[in-house]
Amino acid sequence: ETFDAMGLLENLLRGIYAYGFEKPSAIQQRGIVPFCKGLDVIQQAQSGTGKTATFCSGILQQLDYSLVECQALVLAPTRELAQQIEKVMRALGDYLGVKVHACVGGTSVREDQRILSSGVHVVVGTPGRVFDMLRRQSLRPDNIKMFVLDEADEMLSRGFKDQIYDIFQLLPPKIQVGVFSATMPPEALEITRKFMNKPVRILV
Ligand code: AMP
Repeated sequence: ETFDAMGLLENLLRGIYAYGFEKPSAIQQRGIVPFCKGLDVIQQAQSGTGKTATFCSGILQQLDYSLVECQALVLAPTRELAQQIEKVMRALGDYLGVKVHACVGGTSVREDQRILSSGVHVVVGTPGRVFDMLRRQSLRPDNIKMFVLDEADEMLSRGFKDQIYDIFQLLPPKIQVGVFSATMPPEALEITRKFMNKPVRILV
C-alpha cells in the first residue's frame, strides 16, 4: 500500500510527503480510506501508531475549502496533545490552505474568540474550552460534519464524559464520527453506541 493509491487530493499528498512520511503505517493503510468515504470509524490503536495522520488526512480530504467555517471538530484529553494535533493538521494541510485553531484551557478566551471569528476550517481542542466556545456561540456548530474523539479512553478517565456528551448535543444530527482509543472500557463503548452509526471497527 502507498499513500498514492488512496485517492487523496494532490495537495494533501504533497503535504504528507513534505512532512516526511513515505509509506502509510498499518493504521493509516486500514483507516484513511474508510474515513475519507465518510464512514464512522472506531480505531483501537496505541499512540505511536500514526493515528493522528489517519484522522487528519481523513478530515483534510473532506473539507470544503471554499467555506471558511468550522467543518471538523477534534477533541483531545490534554492541551499538549490538542496543540500537537493542530500542528500536524496544519502541516499536512499546508498546500490545501487549511485554517486550524486549537481551543485549549490556559489561553486567552478573547484570543480564541478573535481567531474563531476570523474563520477556521478545523477546531482541535480540549472538551472544557471547546464547550465554552460553543456555549458563547463563538464556535458555530452549524457546518460541522466531522467529529473526532482522540484518546477517548483517556478523556473518559479524566472525567470529560459529561462535557463530551454536552458538546455532542450541540452538533448537527448527521455527522461523521471517528473514535480513537487505545482501550475500549464500557464508557467508551457507550459513546460508540450513542454517537455512531454502523461504525467500521479497526484494531491495530
Ligand atoms: P501518532 O501515533 O499519530 O502519535 O504518531 C506517532 C509518530 O509516528 C509521530 O512521530 C509521527 O510523526 C510518526 N508517523 C506517523 N505516521 C508515519 C508514517 N506514515 N511514516 C513515518 N512516520 C510516521
